[in-house]
Amino acid sequence: MNAMRIGVDLGGHTLTAALVSYDGEKPRIEKIDKSDTPRSRSVGEVMEAIASAAERLSEGIKKIDAMGVAVPGMLTADRRRALRMPNFPAEWDDLDVVDAVGRELESRGIRAPVRIENDANCYALGEGSAGEAVGISDFVVFTMGTGIGCGIVTGGRLLTGAYGMAGEGGHVVVRGDVPCGCGGKGHSETLAAADGTSARALAKGLPEDFEKLWKMKGNPAADEVLDVTLDTMARTIATTSHLLDPRMVIIGGGMSRAEGIGDALKSRTVEYLSRPFKKLLDIRISRLGNETALYGAASIDR
Ligand SMILES: [Zn+2]
Repeated sequence: MNAMRIGVDLGGHTLTAALVSYDGEKPRIEKIDKSDTPRSRSVGEVMEAIASAAERLSEGIKKIDAMGVAVPGMLTADRRRALRMPNFPAEWDDLDVVDAVGRELESRGIRAPVRIENDANCYALGEGSAGEAVGISDFVVFTMGTGIGCGIVTGGRLLTGAYGMAGEGGHVVVRGDVPCGCGGKGHSETLAAADGTSARALAKGLPEDFEKLWKMKGNPAADEVLDVTLDTMARTIATTSHLLDPRMVIIGGGMSRAEGIGDALKSRTVEYLSRPFKKLLDIRISRLGNETALYGAASIDR
């Protein structure tokens, strides 16, 4: 059976959508539609933009079997409403996103069940459906970029928790007391994400771009900055591994493109792991890149 789905990745600046086909084996992206996220980021304009993208992608397609949207924010446990969208206007808070997208699609004659999921979770679903973790039932994904995103699949299911907020691996309490943008302190992403790393680099007169900084490895000042990033991430991965016993840990996001970062993280993480975990640690670098969340959004099932 050849099913057709649409996956949408709603970012603060870019709205990417893909037509994904499923012919029983691996899903395949047939067409990608990229547009700017409306600058207002208002509900009305964003809904229109999502539906327009769906309209363009579904041209000539008889039936869209499902549409999934990766949403940059926390969602209610029933996966209908946004709890909080940090970079979007307040009118999004408590909005029934499933209903809003569904109505906009219907007004254009597209009838498809709509599903939403947090964007980092979509990244994990994407690795599970088309990436490193195909056929694997227990894995953790970290996206290292501006912040540290995380998605957890355990026993073949995305871990969502009692209130829908599970899997916030970027907010594991690791060390220090640096205040986190989320309202807590000492969280992993304050030190390991690109923003925190750049701030430490700039303070030493080093390049703020992570890949440039990474290429300076061997320079004592650069090593000092990178050491905090790697060590913080290693503690985060070790803590997560001890809690969840994953078969693999997948690293994605912009920072994962730094050459050799997977091996560097592995050797650091092993130091923190208890003996039985040491030889089992399997850290992979995501290969799907920007398409991961699209595959994930299209694959949301419930
Ligand atoms: Zn935090």
